[in-house]
Amino acid sequence: AKSDSDSGYRLYDANLKDPRAERRALEGALRSAHENRELELFYQPILDIATNRMWGCEALVRWKHPTKGMILPLQFITAAEESGLIGPIGDWILEEACRTAMTWPLPLAVAVNLSPVQFRSRDVFASVRQALDASGLPARRLILEITESVRLTEEATATLRRLKALGVSIALDDFGTGYASMSYLSSFPFDKIKIDQSFVRAMMDSPDSRAIIKATISLANDLKMSTTAEGVETEEQLAALRQAGASQAQGYLIAKPMPRDAIAAFIAEAQNA
Ligand code: C2E
Ligand code: CA
Ligand code: CA
Ligand code: CA
Repeated sequence: AKSDSDSGYRLYDANLKDPRAERRALEGALRSAHENRELELFYQPILDIATNRMWGCEALVRWKHPTKGMILPLQFITAAEESGLIGPIGDWILEEACRTAMTWPLPLAVAVNLSPVQFRSRDVFASVRQALDASGLPARRLILEITESVRLTEEATATLRRLKALGVSIALDDFGTGYASMSYLSSFPFDKIKIDQSFVRAMMDSPDSRAIIKATISLANDLKMSTTAEGVETEEQLAALRQAGASQAQGYLIAKPMPRDAIAAFIAEAQNA
């Protein structure tokens, strides 16, 4: 989320005027946050639209700061990327998400976001395999979400192919928001397209947004990819998405992201429903 990078340092600017000192302060705080286990994963349910059952969950990182409270990823992911901390933090996120999914009462899928920096500077394949081995999670239950900001070089594409060969699925996140969505889609056989919430938010008022959603779903079907609509907040949107043929829905209508214990209870309840 490059557009959010400017907000990344505001956390620490209250008493620091020098932007570089400010940045070092945030990086230092983030480093100790990782060491002190202040980072936590929340999980947001994803609904299978056709069956009305839970399909899986997306893992979303949070920073539980001892004095500043809960900090959202857009405020620290950029700093994590620029400092290189996204390497160890990203590895922790992968393993933690896989281990948590292993504790769920149903064998649902878990989706994990990958930063472009993890892709560039890390042996992502080794990190994923390590997370699967350590947790025992079957590869078919893991979905990796990447955005267009991951450059699909020959090397990156080869890594994605190896991951798919392991059984892991690859989703294209935030579809439609970048400048090259179409050409990007043709450079790799993604398993899933995640339709950005900006289109879902606009769909009831804007025929154009509705048209884009329908075209995306039809394109995905032709390419044998499934679709998840993000940011679904109303029954009206869900009904329209069902009619348009979207595979899955994710958003506050179904549930907000929640901590590890709450998601286990949510899944157990869904199982009994
Ligand atoms: P994303 O991958 O597009 O994640 C979806 C975001 O939409 C989440 O924000 C989620 O809380 C929010 N959301 C879900 N449903 C609704 C809804 O109905 N309405 C609205 N208004 N928002 C909804 P969050 O958790 O703040 O994450 C923001 C972004 O930070 C993510 O966007 C992703 O790009 C990044 N991120 C989150 N967790 C991780 C992570 O573990 N690793 C990496 N590399 N990036 C992460
Ligand atoms: Ca995502
Ligand atoms: Ca998204
Ligand atoms: Ca996003």
